[in-house]
Amino acid sequence: MDIGRKKILTGTNTRPGIPPKNKNTPSSPELLQQETEEDIVLNLSLRPKDLSEFVGQVETVDSLKIAISAAKERKEPLEHVFLSGPPGLGKTALSHIIAHQMNSKITATSGPAIERAGDLIGILTNLEEGDVLFIDEIHRMSKVVEEFLYPAMENSQIDFIIDKGPYARTIKFNLKRFTLIGATTRSGLLSSALRSRFGMFYHFDFYAPQELARIIKRSASLLGVGLEDDAAIEIADRSRGTPRIANRLLRRVRDYAQVKEKSKTITKDIADKALSALRIDKSGLDDYDRRVLKTIIEFYDGGPVGIESLAATLNDEQDTIIDTIEPYLLKIGFLKRTARGRSVADAAYKHFGITKKKAGQKQLFD
Ligand code: ADP
Repeated sequence: MDIGRKKILTGTNTRPGIPPKNKNTPSSPELLQQETEEDIVLNLSLRPKDLSEFVGQVETVDSLKIAISAAKERKEPLEHVFLSGPPGLGKTALSHIIAHQMNSKITATSGPAIERAGDLIGILTNLEEGDVLFIDEIHRMSKVVEEFLYPAMENSQIDFIIDKGPYARTIKFNLKRFTLIGATTRSGLLSSALRSRFGMFYHFDFYAPQELARIIKRSASLLGVGLEDDAAIEIADRSRGTPRIANRLLRRVRDYAQVKEKSKTITKDIADKALSALRIDKSGLDDYDRRVLKTIIEFYDGGPVGIESLAATLNDEQDTIIDTIEPYLLKIGFLKRTARGRSVADAAYKHFGITKKKAGQKQLFD
């Protein structure tokens, strides 16, 4: 769950020539970023409960299994864990599983939610021996709060400073030993001081279609809807390598099957029709992705364009583009990132059937 990242983006843009957002269909920030009530409830019910149900990320899971067994044998809390990767790939789900495997309680919060050092002290002093503290979007924690975390992570202590000026004194408060799990979509923004206090680092990568198909099948059986194998692959192929999106598309396809097709079973044909109705193409791109790519093509001759200019042209936030839109476009080779900015790759031109403009020539659209 992306605590603190539930903003609703309105990126309507009235500038002439900018590929418009289709008002009738969900745009990418809505699909990826905005967590609806339905998501929160269903994410909880579809969330894998232990490591055996957690699909993919094999190296991470194998390494964690060893670390968990070793820590349990020694009757010690697990070392602090750092998880990075794009949203919706299972960082929160895995953190809950780690706590479950360690037979401990988890307290979940997020960097922006801890506004003052006092909030963090309150959370830390309530932790029991071996508890897990999960901080999502840890890169967005304030410097002051972050500094309180250092001694807590290092030797389970917090330093209070009381009084001011010449009377100022530091009082040490002992905490119970705990495991911090920090998650972020932007590992590059973490300070090296905080990074160095973690013992284990794992990066989440996009899932392969076969892995997503397994997740979708498990979710379909939990939701009580029939799903044919090739339908699961069809949804998986169009889910941007992301389990959260796969589960969401499955629910939309289920609605379509029920209402439009009066069918209790999702076939490949139904999945294809439903996803096309949602304007999700064969590469998993939706209106917003297309809008980003076409804006770079039309306004910046395919790039390179700096992220600030691109965000301004799209009338959207840089963070939205960096965190949720471009990782997948980079992954599938539709976008390139260089020191000079973002450029659209040849594969994307091919995907759109657009002829790449030569210097001094006007863009040709099919
Ligand atoms: P993140 O914290 O990385 O943004 P979440 O942990 O909230 O992502 O994952 C979103 C949803 O995707 C979860 O509720 C879960 O249902 C599903 N999910 C994520 N990873 C997996 C996985 N490896 N196996 C099965 N389901 C998963």
